[in-house]
Amino acid sequence: MAKLLKQVYIDKKTFIRIFKDNWSEYKRICKYRKVEDENVKRLIKCGDPKNGFIQLRCLSCGETKIIPFSCKSRLCPSCSRIHLQERIIKIKSIMIKGVGHRHVVLTTPKELWNYFRRDRYLLKVMGDAGAELIRDILKFYRKKEGIEPGIILVIQTSGRSLNFNPHLHLLITEGGLGKDNKWYSLSYIDQYLLGRKWKYFLLTRLRKYLPKNERTKRLIDKIFKEKRSFITYAKKEKKRKVDIVGYLIKYVVSPPISYQRIIEYKNGEITFRYQTREGAKNKIRKMNVSGFIYLLVQHIPEANQKMIHYYGLYTRARAKRMKTAVEKIIRSFNQQGWEEEQEKLLTEILSFPTTYRDRMKTSYNKDPCICPVCGDEMIIEKIVGPYGCIIFDLWKTDYFQEKTYQERKDAELLQKKEKEQEESPRFHQLLLPQLQK
Ligand SMILES: [Zn+2]
Ligand SMILES: [Zn+2]
Repeated sequence: MAKLLKQVYIDKKTFIRIFKDNWSEYKRICKYRKVEDENVKRLIKCGDPKNGFIQLRCLSCGETKIIPFSCKSRLCPSCSRIHLQERIIKIKSIMIKGVGHRHVVLTTPKELWNYFRRDRYLLKVMGDAGAELIRDILKFYRKKEGIEPGIILVIQTSGRSLNFNPHLHLLITEGGLGKDNKWYSLSYIDQYLLGRKWKYFLLTRLRKYLPKNERTKRLIDKIFKEKRSFITYAKKEKKRKVDIVGYLIKYVVSPPISYQRIIEYKNGEITFRYQTREGAKNKIRKMNVSGFIYLLVQHIPEANQKMIHYYGLYTRARAKRMKTAVEKIIRSFNQQGWEEEQEKLLTEILSFPTTYRDRMKTSYNKDPCICPVCGDEMIIEKIVGPYGCIIFDLWKTDYFQEKTYQERKDAELLQKKEKEQEESPRFHQLLLPQLQK
């Protein structure tokens, strides 16, 4: 009988140590991008109060506790979790309710991966090609008219084994708005056609931006001539089992690896596990630490690189305006579906924790404001930003501040009045008997 072994994996400290121990050496021997250096440096300082912190104090026993700000490093598995739910809800709010969304994956051929890695702008070119492709496919189905779908497009560079494998995830409304302001449903997408067209759209667009040398030209020609079309997935989901938006956004905001997948960091080597496909058995890989760091940092997007794009009805500038109009149309034939999805989102929003404390509670199942000594609730005493600038200090709030001159004057006046009153015969007449009762 198979023994049930508890999975071993590293903790946050060890994860940071991988970079702390090796980053200078890595920079000496490997090429790196500026954005990689920035993100590693932020990660190394994750949890360092120098980056700012919140100080809590227990009023019962005096205990203080410091909660450091998140490091905002793309590599940090801990800090990336904090804003995850926020982004998921943001995207779900944009999406039109009562309409199915097809999940389409568009991949790129292996021979081109290195070009994307060297020139990150090509990722944007790939994204635009993907959106153009979907618009074209819909036009094909509606002939000349052309219908406008809503498209959310997510660029991803990481394959399952952490390799650089640029590909696109798209969420597309199953249908679109016609020029006559009617909604045209569309649930059939021809996989074969999609693959062929994707190849054409991507290659023609890439050609403009790829290096103009013989080798590249020949490679593109060769791929063009080959019979194979690029691999695409666009299967219809029967009933959505997984929260596909949550799944995609998690991919975008999280680093390509979690603590749970790193088994060991020892003697300059890393052992980690990965799956070749969803549900497959774990594979184990052991490699030197520089190689491992290389695998991780290559997926950090450039600072100005957006990994989520909106097209058609979901274009940022139009999303809000279009949504109201389109949903009115959708409700005219699918009121129930619209209501159900709207309600679902509302529940999600209402249960969404907005404060840091609630976020911690849901993310880590731990309340950060409970005193570790006496168990009482702690209060925020101080919030300090990076480089020690004080953002909030309880003892310097008006409540604890010395009164201003005017306030002191007012207080004195009031006292004087009260005293006068007490001394007045009327006061004695009216109130004293009652007070003495
Ligand atoms: Zn962090
Ligand atoms: Zn306490």
